[in-house]
Amino acid sequence: MQITTQAVQIGLEWDTRTGSVAIPIYQTATFRHPGLGQSTGFDYTRSGNPTRQALEDGIARLDGGVRGFAYATGMAAITGLLMLFKAGDHIVVTEDLYGGTCRLFNQVFNQFGLSFSYVDTTDLAAVEAAIRPETRALFVETLTNPLLKFADLPALAELSRRRGLLLIADNTFLTPYLMRPLELGADITVYSATKYLAGHNDTLGGLVVTNRPELAERIYFYQNSVGAVLAPQDSWLIIRGMKTLGVRLDRHQENALRIATWLEQHPRISKVHYPGLPQHPDHALMKRQARGFGAMIAFEVDKHALVEQVLLKTGLISFAESLGGVESLITFPEVQTHADIPAELRARLGINNVLLRLSVGIEDADDLIEDLRQALEG
Ligand SMILES: *Cc1c(COP(=O)(O)O)cnc(C)c1O
Repeated sequence: MQITTQAVQIGLEWDTRTGSVAIPIYQTATFRHPGLGQSTGFDYTRSGNPTRQALEDGIARLDGGVRGFAYATGMAAITGLLMLFKAGDHIVVTEDLYGGTCRLFNQVFNQFGLSFSYVDTTDLAAVEAAIRPETRALFVETLTNPLLKFADLPALAELSRRRGLLLIADNTFLTPYLMRPLELGADITVYSATKYLAGHNDTLGGLVVTNRPELAERIYFYQNSVGAVLAPQDSWLIIRGMKTLGVRLDRHQENALRIATWLEQHPRISKVHYPGLPQHPDHALMKRQARGFGAMIAFEVDKHALVEQVLLKTGLISFAESLGGVESLITFPEVQTHADIPAELRARLGINNVLLRLSVGIEDADDLIEDLRQALEG
């Protein structure tokens, strides 16, 4: 069955008693036991809740995994995965990384004896050189943030297997609709469901999927023990969002290609990063390994003064953090989303004072282009 169909089916068969088409929101903390030592399968909502489970089963199916897990936020999901490691372990990480993940690694988990090395994961030799005897995992963003680089996941999976590492893929920017990392050799996928999966800029959530039963047991143990689970209401909202994942992403991408092409020829724009453009260095690889190029664009204006002008003069496009929702959003990574990346690393990556990041929504592309035109030329 195609992913679009699977997404629409999420939760559909849950309530056999009433036949409810939409999954009910099981807004309960606890469940009655039918007898001594017996359970309906649900005991206490931190350990399991039907609305949350429908979402967890749904994402596991879309990603081709054996089990899914839902957390309060994307950061809570990544935190849940870091519980798999212990003091002294080392993890190799994509250098062009979501700022919040970098902060979690460098300012929280380093206190517990985990260490992290940041490398360009599109450079296999650099990844291999960063592996040490105590390295336990490779953590990559499938499409990086904000510079939209795309790594060769099957090659990284081969390297991980050869060196005995877990391969964890943050697939937030692509979703299972555009790429399925578990099929390409990853052991675990993680999502900020806040973004494309929920899709409406109205709730937060994090999801994890694995295709390895023994890992699923351990991840469940930590999810239940640590307790940062997704609440039933939010689980329901994310299921509702996911039902339209395919149609939304088709439109997001169509708009993104039109806007990237328009920006590319604009005299005030000096650089456009969008993997859907044929001249992007990872275009050919991504075309082979993913079903599309997503809808995130980063671009450089020709002078710093234009940054503030664009952020303040765009009207239809909101100046706000986050991404992946139906509403288009624009942000300035150096000061906003990526402020917690060390300045020296930001400079090396090219996260500079003329770089803007655009999350292209599903509005009419002509209206979005007009908004950008008047902001740039205004
Ligand atoms: C937003 C984001 C996160 C964090 O998710 P939250 O839901 O905001 O906690 C992690 N990874 C990527 C790639 C993101 O874009």
